[in-house]
Amino acid sequence: MLLVNLRHLEAREIRLEGELAAAELDFGLRDEMIRAEQPLRYDLTVEKMHDALLVTGSLRLILDCQCVRCLKSFEQRLILEDWTCHLPLAGEEKVSVNNDCVDLTPFVREDILLEFPPHPLCKRDCGGLKKGQAPKTGGKDIAASAAWAELDKLKL
Ligand SMILES: [Zn+2]
Repeated sequence: MLLVNLRHLEAREIRLEGELAAAELDFGLRDEMIRAEQPLRYDLTVEKMHDALLVTGSLRLILDCQCVRCLKSFEQRLILEDWTCHLPLAGEEKVSVNNDCVDLTPFVREDILLEFPPHPLCKRDCGGLKKGQAPKTGGKDIAASAAWAELDKLKL
């Protein structure tokens, strides 16, 4: 867990730096094209404002992805350089506090999940499977074979 002790914050801001194991983040991924098995690195500063916590800093996570077009495995780096999280300590939206501690894990999880690619691609213009693996083109598939020819040109 990524805990902030409120008592430590009374005097001054605190710096949190380290790693969160993938098991703790537990993204609940169903997508086989994306796996998050590497730890997330965080480097955060937490300040106590009036009735709220302000968390700022960076989050970094490397995903192991499989390209949806060519099925190649590749790593995708997610970097949130200026992540900011405002956590109220009072009111309806207030965060839960256990033994003077606030767990930042759910907020980190939520925001880094938003950065996950919906359809991972090894590169933006990935041409998909190689020609040899393409479905056989009969007379009806002229458009498809023309597309493959275009892709071959691009590779030159
Ligand atoms: Zn690809």
